[in-house]
Amino acid sequence: MSNKIKLGVIGDPIDHSLSPLIHAQFGEAAGLEIDYKAFHVIEKDLDSFIESFFSDGGYGLNVTLPHKLNCLHSADILSSEVELLGAANTLSKNSNNQIIASSTDGIGLIRDCSDKNIEISNKRVLILGAGGASQSIIPAIARMKPTKLMVDNRSPNKIEQLLKKFSSLGLQNFRHSNEPIDIVINATSATLSGSFDWNIENQLNEKTLFYDLSYGKASAKFFSWAGQFSKNRFDGTGMLIAQAAFSFQLWFDMFPDISNIKLSNTDE
Ligand code: NDP
Repeated sequence: MSNKIKLGVIGDPIDHSLSPLIHAQFGEAAGLEIDYKAFHVIEKDLDSFIESFFSDGGYGLNVTLPHKLNCLHSADILSSEVELLGAANTLSKNSNNQIIASSTDGIGLIRDCSDKNIEISNKRVLILGAGGASQSIIPAIARMKPTKLMVDNRSPNKIEQLLKKFSSLGLQNFRHSNEPIDIVINATSATLSGSFDWNIENQLNEKTLFYDLSYGKASAKFFSWAGQFSKNRFDGTGMLIAQAAFSFQLWFDMFPDISNIKLSNTDE
């Protein structure tokens, strides 16, 4: 039997996950013998998979779509961020064999913004989208004290749900605003289905900064739309690597060097 430290990511689908590639590089740089695999787990097997993964000596799991919410059933302890979000992307085990659920998406985004000198404090920030990714970054962005934190979504009923969920964070409905926007964060999956367009042109200008949570080729349509207004455009590669690094830190208590990670599949 292998003595390597057993780690993995679970999702459905999972084929295109870059997490094994990223964590292999973290492990190698840290001198740790890790075995990080992508596991295709369907909803009905979720609880039993997590239970047997950890009882068979598994050390840590990342969780991706569609299991970020339901993985909480298997957790004994929820981090305060997970309590707020109702979703997690990292599971670890403590010395009492309890499973702890954490979320590193929000801090991953903040870390990437800091690495790119993107200032959020005192800025008017608009998040497009109200799905899992949008929700997972809202509290972390709110903590950076933007002047305004607004959300817009194709389906307006979900805007109202988000405002309720995060009522303590001062989140606002973008549809009631007519001020210029400093930062637009695309947290939709719109570019997967066609061209990107959002009817907010008169609130954008050449100083507006655009950040797409998607990465690689998936960002092309958002970049092309944003490019009509500004050259300040970033994709979500840095966030992807940083959220993985915070998971690694939860497991091994060390933050890996994220400056030179190779994502040879980024454009796939
Ligand atoms: P969800 O399926 O939970 O949400 C999708 C969102 O996109 C919804 O708000 C939906 O609106 C909106 N949407 C979908 N299609 C369109 C369209 N054609 N026009 C307008 N809006 C649309 O997905 P996630 O929130 O989990 O993921 C969103 C994106 O974030 C993905 O591209 C994902 O890859 C990326 N991501 C990146 C991470 C990173 O580390 N860089 C981490 C997590 C996610 P509606 O409510 O109307 O359906």
